[in-house]
Amino acid sequence: MPNVAFINGTFVPMAEAKVSIEDRGFQFGDGVYEVIRTYKGRPFELEAHLARLDRSATALDLKQPYSHDDWTRHILEGIRRAAYPEAKIYVQITRGVAPRDHAYSDDATPTVVMTVREFHPLDRSVQVAGVEAITTEDIRWGRCDIKSVNLLANVLARQQVKQAQVFEAILVNEGLVTEGAVSNVMVVQGGTVVTAPQGPRILSGITRTVVLDLARSEGLPVQERFVSQADLYEADEVFLTGTTVEVLAVIRVDGKIIGDGRPGPIAQRLAARFTSRVG
Ligand code: PMP
Repeated sequence: MPNVAFINGTFVPMAEAKVSIEDRGFQFGDGVYEVIRTYKGRPFELEAHLARLDRSATALDLKQPYSHDDWTRHILEGIRRAAYPEAKIYVQITRGVAPRDHAYSDDATPTVVMTVREFHPLDRSVQVAGVEAITTEDIRWGRCDIKSVNLLANVLARQQVKQAQVFEAILVNEGLVTEGAVSNVMVVQGGTVVTAPQGPRILSGITRTVVLDLARSEGLPVQERFVSQADLYEADEVFLTGTTVEVLAVIRVDGKIIGDGRPGPIAQRLAARFTSRVG
């Protein structure tokens, strides 16, 4: 089955999918993106992803070239062409091609690309066992709510993850837990689910919203506030949420055991609810 590439309205073989070296995405990281996955071949929470793409683009004064209907058509066509059992769709809009100058002109034509690749869900044994994380300083800029292609801080954090042979890096800003390098972080304290509030310090995950709704519908108290790094170590449970990780228990952080060292009851309950929600 082919990986599928799309540039500015046209599907092309991956090897022919090229953009100019003067694209502002390449030179300045001047662009935004989304990652969407399918369940049973259908894109999950597509409207929410497209709404976030609009918000990211608007925050950067970037022209959004497609309506939600256009995007939906292209994404469904990409999924159809790739014909994978489950697909991961990457969409990116950059400010387009222009002679290098930090300031941009209003008439730049955005470059739009999409790839559709096979999605391999996490192994069930990983879900059951839980994962290990490290903490690292959150050195990102002040608008983490924008899903921008400027990912250097996340790149460095993920490299630390690779070197430490753990699953995720939990980012800590001035002593407060913000989120993971590629996920949101939730903790359980005395039965309450606590996660960092929406705002410029985190990317508000689509999965985060779904999981908080599930928690509320389960009658669990939810608080959107920051917890400290010390609170993280002391939490009854820690778990990650995200498109690729779904709901995933963290059983050790910086080598310290969380709770009793196994996925806790609330993480397990929410993971099960999430599975039925997407199934
Ligand atoms: N935070 C960051 C920094 C991320 O990269 C991601 C993955 N997109 C998330 C949170 C989770 O967001 P979502 O649930 O929309 O995948």
